[in-house]
Amino acid sequence: MRIANLHGRAALVRDGLALDIEQASDGKFGPAPLGLYEDWDAFRAWAVDADYSSALPFDDKDLGAPIPNPRQIFAIGLNYKDHADEASLPYPEHLFVFTKFQSSLAGPHAVVELPSETVDYEVELVAVVGKEMHKVDETEAWDGVAGLSVGQDFSEREIQLRPPVPQFSLGKSFPNFSPFGPAVVTLDELPDYEGLPLSTVIEGQGPAGGWKVQDGNTRNMIFSVPQIIAELSRVVTLFPGDLIFTGTPAGVGKAHGIALQPGNVLTSTVEGIGSLRNEFV
Ligand code: ZN
Repeated sequence: MRIANLHGRAALVRDGLALDIEQASDGKFGPAPLGLYEDWDAFRAWAVDADYSSALPFDDKDLGAPIPNPRQIFAIGLNYKDHADEASLPYPEHLFVFTKFQSSLAGPHAVVELPSETVDYEVELVAVVGKEMHKVDETEAWDGVAGLSVGQDFSEREIQLRPPVPQFSLGKSFPNFSPFGPAVVTLDELPDYEGLPLSTVIEGQGPAGGWKVQDGNTRNMIFSVPQIIAELSRVVTLFPGDLIFTGTPAGVGKAHGIALQPGNVLTSTVEGIGSLRNEFV
C-alpha cells in the first residue's frame, strides 16, 4: 500500500486516486498521519482490505510530507561507496549520524527558497519506522520498517562545513530542505527493496532536457537499512513514524562544482516508490 498526506489528512493512494483513511475506516484510523504508525499492525490489517470505491482523484501538488511531525529524524552521512569514492574519503567504520530538524520537512512538490549560492542536493531512500525498537538485531530490523519513501537532503554547504566544527544538522535544516514523499510505500510493493535505483535530474542548468546528476542504487550502501537500524538502536529508542534518511549516492554538486540556482527544477526518484519535484527561488 501507499500512504500519503493529502491536505493534512492520511490517505491511501492508488492509480491517481486517494482514499481518505478516517472516512473509509469510520474513524478508526486517521486523520493524523503519525497515528497510523503508532497503531501499525492494526492499521495494516485494515488497509490491506480497504475498499477504494470512494477514492477520489487528487493533484500531486496537494500532497504534504507523508509524516509531517515524526518524533525523530535521523540522517546518515557518507553511506554509499560511490559517494565516498568521489569525495576521496575512506569508507566509515561507524555510522555517521546527524538530524534534520522537523521544521525542514516538506511535501514532494515544495518550492525551496535558496538561502545562499552553495545549496546542494542529495537524493536518499527514507526508511519509516513502524514499531518501537531499542537494541534490535540486524535480522529483526526490516520487521520494524513500515515502509520506504523518497527524500531529498538539501544542504547549505557553507554552514554545514564552516569552522570551528561542522554543523550538518543546521546546514541541512532550512525551511523545505527535507522534502519527502510522495507516499510511504510498504515493502510488499517493492519486490527488490534492497536494491532500488535512485536518481536526481536537474532542469534549468546543464544539458537541455534535463541533466541526470545522480544515478545510483541502494545496493551500494556501506551500512544497509537493517545495519543502520541495529546500530542506531544500540543507543537510541526508535519510535513509530520516525524517519531515517539513509545517505546519498555519487553525483552530489559539491563533488562536481554544481550548486542549485533560482529557476532550477529538481526531480528526485527512487524506482518503485516515486518522485519528488522541487523548484528553487
Ligand atoms: Zn544526506
